[in-house]
This record gives sequence, structure tokens and C-alpha cells, in this order.
Amino acid sequence: MAIDFSLPPDIVALRTKIREFIDKDVEPVATRLEKVDDRSQWGPEIIRLRKLAREKGLWLPHMPKEFGGMELGALGIATVSAECGRVPLSAFIINCQAPDEGNMHTLLHFATPAQKEKYLRPLCNGFVRSCFAMTEPEVAGSDPTGIQTFAVRQGDHWHINGHKWFISGARGAKFAILIACTDPDADPPQARNSAFIVDLPRSHLGLPPMVTSQATKEEADAVRWQWLADKLASLELNAEKVDAKLAAAEAKVGLWQFACVILGILLTALAVNVFVR
Ligand SMILES: Cc1cc2nc3c(=O)[nH]c(=O)nc-3n(C[C@H](O)[C@H](O)[C@H](O)COP(=O)(O)OP(=O)(O)OC[C@H]3O[C@@H](n4cnc5c(N)ncnc54)[C@H](O)[C@@H]3O)c2cc1C
Repeated sequence: MAIDFSLPPDIVALRTKIREFIDKDVEPVATRLEKVDDRSQWGPEIIRLRKLAREKGLWLPHMPKEFGGMELGALGIATVSAECGRVPLSAFIINCQAPDEGNMHTLLHFATPAQKEKYLRPLCNGFVRSCFAMTEPEVAGSDPTGIQTFAVRQGDHWHINGHKWFISGARGAKFAILIACTDPDADPPQARNSAFIVDLPRSHLGLPPMVTSQATKEEADAVRWQWLADKLASLELNAEKVDAKLAAAEAKVGLWQFACVILGILLTALAVNVFVR
């Protein structure tokens, strides 16, 4: 029996709406901005498009209405992701870009109410960006059970010591969700790690990253690869008093469950992209 891959009418209507928005409003701007080296010129256009997206109800497809989102299910999120894949700026315009999107899910499911107000709500409002710091130069990123960044409780705080690199979007991010080992002997080994919310030293509240970084295109590209050497290393040294541990970590839920939430969404998006289009 053939599998019916047709989309329900509401998802088809959603796809038409997001496709029209991207084709008519986002794509022409993205094409023009790609030729502009001075990234400070990107800000006004991004702010204008983000306002327009919100007016059209195309904002935070993956988040509940409580946080200003569209509260879509997996199929709706995947459909929107597939459309955004055609013009990469689109995801940023409707505020579902990596790594913020994954971090929002993590905070929504595992943060305390106070942490949600402090970190998740500004992220959802588009006022700040975040990053996800897991990969390390000393060990294979493919296997998080080998993570060598350790977090040790000291009184009311945690002391975190280690190196991270390849941290997309770290420049200009307000905070990182950082993965560190808190229980080296845990069984299974996937339960060794915990997630921490770490405030980053350099914040640029209220402005989109292209504006705040003031970087040329070449600089922006280079930063992605050079972050470890001059920026994230200092983050770790400053992360001696971390008190914003995620609630899930407190319950001894390891990295695996965070990864499953994020991976599940990525796979759904991929499947729809491959099979439905
Ligand atoms: C553009 C980009 C953005 C990124 N953004 C982020 C980010 O925001 N945050 C973050 O934390 N990380 C980020 N990363 C890092 C990414 O998660 C890692 O590169 C990835 O997990 C692989 O880890 P690695 O680079 O250490 O390679 P390794 O794990 O060392 O792998 C190198 C090679 O060895 C193979 N290999 C590894 N272990 C085994 C094994 N046991 N058996 C057989 N083969 C093996 C792999 O398949 C691969 O071919 C980013 C990477 C890129 C390229």
C-alpha cells in the first residue's frame, strides 16, 4: 500500500503563507544584503522584516502562544523549516534560527519559571541571541560522553573549567547553554553531563547580531572558526560562579534527553523536506 504523504489543508495554507512571505518580502532583501559588506546596514532591514513577520503572525513557529509563538506541531514546524531552507535569512526573520531555536526548546522543557522569564522570554521576543557550547578541542565532538569540561558545586554556585570551540553565534550572544560533566561515573555514560546557562561577558541587548558585531562579511565568517582562541576561552575563565543550572540537570537528566528533543525536530524537518516536497 502506498503511503499518503499529502499535507492536511491547514498545513498547505501555512506553507503558502510562509512561502509568499519569503518570496515577496525576505528573498529580495536577502539577495541585496548579501552584496553589502558593511553589516551595520543589515540592521534596519532585519528589524523591519521581523516586525512584518510578527504582524503577519509568522513568528516563533516552534513556541507556544504563551511566549508569542505560533504553537505549531511537528509537521507545521517542519513545513516552515523546509521553506526557510530556501532563503537562509528567513529563519532569523521569523526567529527560529539555530542555535536559538534548539535552546528555546531546551529552556521551555527544562528551565525553572524564573529561568524562563530571565532567558527564554527575551530570546522569544528577539531581543537577545544565545549559543550552544558543547564541542571541545581535546576530545571528539561525535561522542559527548568524553566531555572534559567539568562542573563542580561550590556552595551555592558551580565552578566550570574546560575548553569549548566551534560555538556558532557566540559572538554577540547574551548567554550560552553549556554542557559540562557533573557526574563522571554515571551509568549510562550519557547521564554524565548537565546543561548550564552561562551569562556571556559581552552582550548587545536589543540589537540584531549583524549590527552589534560591526563585522564585515569576511570577519563574520572568520569569527565562527576563531572563536575558541580569543573569546570562548575567556568565557570559561569567567564562568566561576554559575548559579543558573537547568532544572533538568538537577534531576540528573543527562545530555541525551536535550539532544533527543533537538535531534527529533531536525529529523522531522529533514523528513518532510525529503518526502513531501
Ligand atoms: C559549521 C559548524 C558549526 C558548529 N556549531 C557548533 C555549536 O554551535 N556548538 C557546538 O557545541 N558545536 C558546534 N560544532 C561542532 C560540531 O558539533 C562537531 O564538529 C561535531 O560534533 C564533530 O565533532 P569533531 O569536530 O570534534 O570531530 P570528531 O568527533 O573528532 O570526528 C572527526 C571524524 O572522526 C570520525 N569519528 C569520530 N569518532 C569516531 C569513532 N568512535 N569511530 C569512527 N569514527 C569516528 C567522525 O565521523 C569524523 O569523520 C559546529 C561544527 C561546524 C562544522
